[in-house]
Amino acid sequence: MKVGKSYKRNDIDEQYDAIVIGSGIGGLSTAALLSKEGKKVLVLEKHYVAGGFTHVFKRNDYEWDVGVHYIGEVNKPHAILTRIFNDISDGALKWEDMGDVYDRIIFGDDEYKFVKGLGEFSDKLKEYFPGEENAIDEYIRMVKEATKATRSFFTEKALPPVVASLTGSFMKGKFLKYSDKTTLEVLQGLTQNEKLIAVLTGQYGDYGLPPAQSSFAMHAMVVKHYFNGGAYPVGGSQMIAETIWPVIQKGGGEVYVNAGVEEIIVKGGKAVGVRMEDGNEIFAPIVVSNAGVVNTYGSLLNEEVAKKYGVRENLKKVTPSVAHVCLYIGLKESGENLKTGKANLWIYPHYNHDKAVNDYLADPQNNPFPVVYVSFPSAKDPDWDNRYPGKSTVEAISLAPYEWFAEWEDTRWKKRGEDYDKLKEEYCQRMLEVIYKYVPQLKGKIDYYELSSPLSTKNFTSYEKGEIYGLDHTPDRFRQKFLRPRTPIKNLYLTGQDVVTAGVGGALFGGILAASAILNKNVIADVLKRTAPEHA
Ligand SMILES: Cc1cc2nc3c(=O)[nH]c(=O)nc-3n(C[C@H](O)[C@H](O)[C@H](O)COP(=O)(O)OP(=O)(O)OC[C@H]3O[C@@H](n4cnc5c(N)ncnc54)[C@H](O)[C@@H]3O)c2cc1C
Repeated sequence: MKVGKSYKRNDIDEQYDAIVIGSGIGGLSTAALLSKEGKKVLVLEKHYVAGGFTHVFKRNDYEWDVGVHYIGEVNKPHAILTRIFNDISDGALKWEDMGDVYDRIIFGDDEYKFVKGLGEFSDKLKEYFPGEENAIDEYIRMVKEATKATRSFFTEKALPPVVASLTGSFMKGKFLKYSDKTTLEVLQGLTQNEKLIAVLTGQYGDYGLPPAQSSFAMHAMVVKHYFNGGAYPVGGSQMIAETIWPVIQKGGGEVYVNAGVEEIIVKGGKAVGVRMEDGNEIFAPIVVSNAGVVNTYGSLLNEEVAKKYGVRENLKKVTPSVAHVCLYIGLKESGENLKTGKANLWIYPHYNHDKAVNDYLADPQNNPFPVVYVSFPSAKDPDWDNRYPGKSTVEAISLAPYEWFAEWEDTRWKKRGEDYDKLKEEYCQRMLEVIYKYVPQLKGKIDYYELSSPLSTKNFTSYEKGEIYGLDHTPDRFRQKFLRPRTPIKNLYLTGQDVVTAGVGGALFGGILAASAILNKNVIADVLKRTAPEHA
């Protein structure tokens, strides 16, 4: 089902209570939660498909997700994240567990499995690293403590400014103790075993920064997120938008695609509506931006407004996250025959992630990919065979800075020229070589492949530098007070991954915090009430 109506300026003649710019999970969740409170919400999405990074694209009778490979904490019915998704989809979104092993961390010929269940995870690590039992126990304790501290850190973000200024330091203190340190600093405080450190940070691609650069708090949140294994949306990641859309419609709202917003209209110190790319103006008392803080402050507010509120100064305090290349592969062979398994592969050239990244960035031709992440989306989706019988898909990702592709930024998608195609083909072949080494059964079976570059990411999601996780998750990022749903402009709010963290779960919490700030109430308490077992 295609989510959303196609925007035509004469479509939108009704009055809405709120406008949401962007239909990522942050935008959709805020819209759905406001709808549940009786608000009529208009979601405006620039792309021709709704969902932001949760959308899928189709080519040559294959389908691939673009930004959802696995989600944690949704494979237990009463887990908070499961209940939030149940609430905003009216119970329509279903999840498939990935099984006992969710990630396989590979260095050359060595492989380490990340297994479901905290006890099992810990035992497995101790089996791999005898003599490191104390370090592993302490690591798990710190991961748990850091993530526990996120609760009050997140809550503080939704508080009205006066209350936040009185209680903020106290509420954030414990979290900042962890977020101020890099992952490497914390791990080197626990062990000198470089292999153990490399394995524990084997999922660093989930937040985009290697151990010497990432905040330990972000590392801890991601690791803990998957302690109970990974899950995948039944029917593919597009089901996320597909199941939330009716909830927005039920409240009288609508999602429009092909609906690019040019500017947020600010009058008398208040956001009052938006000017569309076609010049049409739409007004509503609340405007929420899911377009990312860099787009919102950097281009959706005009120069004069941005200057008046000093918001662009804040952008200098943060950096855009990494960009990527993704190889999308289609195979005319069923998952049953290919037997790839569901677990993701994280393939590394050696045990020093920071060195691998730095070497590759300095000289990409003569250094191996610092990571190749391989995902098997069709194998994770129990509904795949009903939609695409006898076929399978694979995706492989590596880092690639936007600057390497910048010379083609003014060319058009699919028409960027021979040099661009040649560069992309080189990436494809290099990535295939790595993939064949670890998944040899794919050799000779590939029917279709296509590589996305940071320019594709920019084209389809509007992140200026093709960034995949919004802002970098460095220690500094978590110190930024301006990353919160309330903006200095009255009635303008931020939602999505820049409010707290990247990840579907992180952007969803951004959505909840935005709804809480708009409604001036604890929305999560309402969600938990609505989804209490007696209501199920
Ligand atoms: C390759 C990749 C793999 C990932 N894997 C995982 C994973 O396995 N698990 C996980 O939890 N997370 C994963 N993530 C991260 C996760 O997908 C994102 O953090 C999250 O989906 C971001 O949601 P969001 O709501 O903040 O914004 P987005 O999904 O980025 O949505 C923002 C939307 O705003 C729209 N927009 C921008 N400007 C305008 C405008 N002017 N007018 C109208 N619309 C506009 C964009 O088109 C876009 O649709 C992955 C991301 C990527 C890129």
